[in-house]
Amino acid sequence: MCPFLSHFSARFFTLISSTFKQGSILIFLLKLYSKTIHSVKPQILIKQLSSSIFEIEEMGFVSSFLINGSKKSILIDSGFGILNYSEVLKDIATHEIEIANTHIHPDHSNGNGYFTQTLMSETEWENHGLKWNKATENIKNGTWNPSSMFSYSEMEDQLPADFNAETYNAFIAKGLPIPTRLVKNGDFIDLGDRQLEIIATPAHTTGSISFLDSESGFLFGGDAFAKSGLWLLNLKCRASLEELFKTYERLNSISKKIKGVFPAHGKKNLPHSFLQEIHQKMNEVRDGSLEGVFKKHKTGDSVFFDFGGFGPMFHVEDVKNAGFKFVIK
Ligand SMILES: [Zn+2]
Repeated sequence: MCPFLSHFSARFFTLISSTFKQGSILIFLLKLYSKTIHSVKPQILIKQLSSSIFEIEEMGFVSSFLINGSKKSILIDSGFGILNYSEVLKDIATHEIEIANTHIHPDHSNGNGYFTQTLMSETEWENHGLKWNKATENIKNGTWNPSSMFSYSEMEDQLPADFNAETYNAFIAKGLPIPTRLVKNGDFIDLGDRQLEIIATPAHTTGSISFLDSESGFLFGGDAFAKSGLWLLNLKCRASLEELFKTYERLNSISKKIKGVFPAHGKKNLPHSFLQEIHQKMNEVRDGSLEGVFKKHKTGDSVFFDFGGFGPMFHVEDVKNAGFKFVIK
C-alpha cells in the first residue's frame, strides 16, 4: 500500500499523474481537490473514488477502475496499453491485479498483455476475442497499423514524445492473452470483503458485461451507456435490437440498488435515475414517439437519438428494419 494513501483517503479527485521515464514509473502527486492538468504525456489521472476504488483516466478519453478487496484487486479494463498499468498501479493495488474486461475494444483491453490474470465474458471472447487475435496476423504482415487509431480518435497529440509506433504495434501483435476466467450473467467475482456481480449488457458489443460492486453500489459498464462521449450502438460487433432492449430493461430493473453509474467515457458517477431515463427513452425509440436524425458518421451511416444532450447512435439498417422514426436533415 502506498504510504500517502492513508493520509489522503478523502473521496474524489485525488490527482496523480504518472508516466514512463527510462523504464520506470514516476508518480507525481499534483494537487489535491483540483483538476490541474500535468503536461506529461500521456496524461494519466488517477482519481480516488472511495477508500478502495480508483479511476484511472487515460488521455482524457477512457477510464479504467481499480477495486481493492480484502483478498484481491480487480482492474476493470486495461486501457490502450501505452503504459503498463501493472507498473502504474503497483503502489495503489493492495493485491495482485486481475483484469476484468467490460468488452474487448482496444481502449479497454489492449493493456491485457501486461497481466497474467484476465477475465471477460464467454460471449465476448468467443464472438470477438478470438477474431481479434486472428486479425493481429495483419499487423505482422503490415496490412494493419494499430497505432493509427490514435489519429482516428484525434489523440495523436496526447501520445508521449517517445511513443514508438513499431514497439506498440509489436505489443498489440502478440494478441490478447487467453482469459484465465470466462464469466456470464449472474456470476460473482469474490474479492474477499466484497463481490462484483456480472450483469450481461449486450448492446455496444454482443458480449459486453457490467460489474456491480456490492460494497459501494457502483456499476461499471464500459461502453454499454454514456452520458456524453462515445455511445456507439452501430458497430459491426453490436448486439441485436432484441438483446439491446433487454439490456436496458435489465439495467432499469436493478437501478434502485445502484448508488453510482460509471461509464468508461464522458460523465461519471451518475445517479441510478440515469438508467431509468435510458430505459424510458429506449421505449420512446421503440414506440416511435422519439424521432432519430440520420448522420453520416465515421463509424458508418447511423441514426442519432437525442436523449437530452446525449444519446446513442444506432446503425441505420437496424433503424430501418425496425421501422423506427428518423429524418434526414
Ligand atoms: Zn467500446
